[in-house]
Amino acid sequence: MNNPLPHALRALTPNVHAWLPDGHATWGLANCVVVTGRKAGSGAALLVDTPYTADMTRRLQDLIGGIGAAEGAAPEVRTVVNTHGNGDHSYGNGLFPGAEIIATDANGKHLCAEPAPAELAALIALSDPESALGAYMRRHFGRYGDFGGVSVVHPTRTFSGEVDLDVDGVAVRLIEVGPAHTAGDLIVHLPEEGVVCAGDVVFNEDHPVHWAGPLESVHRACLRILECDPRVVVPGHGPVMTPAEVGRYADYLLGLRAAVHRGHAAGRPLPVLAAELIADDPYPRWGLAERMAILAAVEYRALDGETEPPDLVGLVGFAAGFAHRREAAAADGSGSGG
Ligand SMILES: [Zn+2]
Repeated sequence: MNNPLPHALRALTPNVHAWLPDGHATWGLANCVVVTGRKAGSGAALLVDTPYTADMTRRLQDLIGGIGAAEGAAPEVRTVVNTHGNGDHSYGNGLFPGAEIIATDANGKHLCAEPAPAELAALIALSDPESALGAYMRRHFGRYGDFGGVSVVHPTRTFSGEVDLDVDGVAVRLIEVGPAHTAGDLIVHLPEEGVVCAGDVVFNEDHPVHWAGPLESVHRACLRILECDPRVVVPGHGPVMTPAEVGRYADYLLGLRAAVHRGHAAGRPLPVLAAELIADDPYPRWGLAERMAILAAVEYRALDGETEPPDLVGLVGFAAGFAHRREAAAADGSGSGG
């Protein structure tokens, strides 16, 4: 992956443009979606999610500025919607001063668990590069530098359930679907455009990671997306999808859930089960198979009745160990992963 950032926004409809970085097999390069109004010259825009760094956010802002160039009215982002509280969907919030920032009430619960930009930068810089976690953090997060210029900017408006908005004639419905990927997920339904922005309830072409779960809840959130009967689904990461592709992804989650539950019922220790799941990877072309270890850990937590917020860094460290062992095995040609 040389330069993974898009040179142009992709028009999904005349009023909906997507920022789709090439984030395959790595972390943090999330999709954003810009909704512009129908009234010529009004220039109002709504942005679904903000990028991880100030540089990426400014680059997106430049592209948004070009949307209305032909009409001479550059859109102004007056509303930011955060699908959830992970930094790769919200750290750029502060670069939209004056915009209303909308998320679910429960989004705040996740923000308690999410490292702030400075903490994340320190974790990358101060971790032992020889350790599995240190190597993993550098590989997947090193590109983002020191996260200078961004900070945690909380929503200015929160809700539970559903909220209807109007972007100068374009209907926007926010639908709470969490807890699923995190405690406070929402999806964005644009009914007249035939688009749903799924946030990280849905990943495409990478193994998914889900912090809150359990997988049954993520599956239910996928079904809610399909109930919207969209033409196009924008996942949190990866290329845009058809509803049929989202349906297959939802089926995969249920199958994985069943395998984890069987392992739990049989008393399999979590590291053993995680290694088995990764070794039997049903989608070897997807990136980041080690994320299955996180999904298994989160599911075990639910089965064990644990309700404390997840230790995100600890979970990434658990996954990093599997990635490290797989790479070591590949390097010495023994071929046995996990
Ligand atoms: Zn994400």
